[in-house]
Amino acid sequence: MNLVSFSIRTKGSHNFVRRLGTVFTRFGFSETPTRRALNTIVDSVQQYTGAPTFFIPAVVLQRHPTLIAEIARKGAEIGVHGYVHNDYRTLSRDQQFEQTEKAISVFQKAKLPYYGFRNPYLGWTRESLEVYATLGFHYESNVAVLHDVVDISAFSPLLRSGFAKSLELFQAVPCNVYALRPDFYGALLRIPTSIPDDEMLFDRLRITDPEEVGRIWSRVMQRVYEMGGLYTLNLHPERGVLCKRALDSLLSYARSRELPVWVVSIGDVAQWWRERSKFRIHMTPLGDNRWQVEANCTQHATVLARHLEIEDQLTSPWYGSDVRVHSQQFIVCANTTPCIGVSKQTPDEVMTFLNEQSYPAVRCTRGESLSYAMYIEKPAGFGGTLEAQAEAKRALVEQIEELEMPLLHFGCWPDGNRATLAISGDIDSVTVQDFFLRIVEVFRHT
Ligand SMILES: [Zn+2]
Repeated sequence: MNLVSFSIRTKGSHNFVRRLGTVFTRFGFSETPTRRALNTIVDSVQQYTGAPTFFIPAVVLQRHPTLIAEIARKGAEIGVHGYVHNDYRTLSRDQQFEQTEKAISVFQKAKLPYYGFRNPYLGWTRESLEVYATLGFHYESNVAVLHDVVDISAFSPLLRSGFAKSLELFQAVPCNVYALRPDFYGALLRIPTSIPDDEMLFDRLRITDPEEVGRIWSRVMQRVYEMGGLYTLNLHPERGVLCKRALDSLLSYARSRELPVWVVSIGDVAQWWRERSKFRIHMTPLGDNRWQVEANCTQHATVLARHLEIEDQLTSPWYGSDVRVHSQQFIVCANTTPCIGVSKQTPDEVMTFLNEQSYPAVRCTRGESLSYAMYIEKPAGFGGTLEAQAEAKRALVEQIEELEMPLLHFGCWPDGNRATLAISGDIDSVTVQDFFLRIVEVFRHT
């Protein structure tokens, strides 16, 4: 299948014709318009001491190594967006492996460090995850969390059906506390991304007013802040200049929250999550409902306490029932042990997950269950399929987050940040020529 028929199948013929019309306005025959767009995004994000992440197909990098090296030198992270811009769901595991390896060799030849992979059309399969893990990627950024922030019923049936096609294409998952957190798949981290992206707003719903787009993105930020998660914005650089005001208003909204929001590249999110997954809390009973606490963590950890009396250290209000403890060693006082009890029949995968999520947990018997903040008895673990596991993990994380019991734990983000904002974009093409070369390249590699 070639790009034209693929695009028509996934986007609808009327959208494909509209898309062709915009190619000549958004791209040039030289690199100049894309250079300007990339710089615009980097500059906006750097004002908030962050850096964006751009994903690029290796063949496009091969044609524009100087431009991409220049953007990387400015501080942007560059990730892999396939060898060519094709849908991995149409490839076998071996083809996925071979094309990912070829993409890596292009990045290596260009001397560009790479940590992450995002699929064109977010088209991942279970085989893709194994391929990325085997080939040493730190993370993939494909799980599309849908933020329900636009009233779709107000749009025409034609636009609604286009929007629905995107949700299907992107394998969208509903938003919840757990879906907004990175998650391990073996050694590989899965860093969620979010939709609607710029393309869904502009091309599908035809919302083109930058102020309205900025308001929509800020609404997403508001919800992510409330849930304490990660907002990965997807903004194709071809709309970088057009969306500058929208991006600036999102960044300024994030900055104006009561607690800080961490603006950072996706690679840094992955590195942090790996660091954080090793944090542990040790408690030694001192008698009389008192515990000596030692938080084994780095200095950036956000140590949180809920419904606890902290005897000898400074705390500050944080979010909901949690207060932030400004020390790694302190004494707490509570009626129950401020950690989670897990039955001996519950498999290790549950303990591993709780540790990765930085919730302190110990094995205990049913008879002891009432002396802990919460008791988990899950002899069957999280279940077999990826979907069943995600559902069980979601329910567990939500239950712990809503717990109104004495509990010590680590916040998701460093240095007391409540939420994280990662600005990302896929450089599908740099020039008009790239746009049309895609048709040939995808045809050859599918
Ligand atoms: Zn793409």
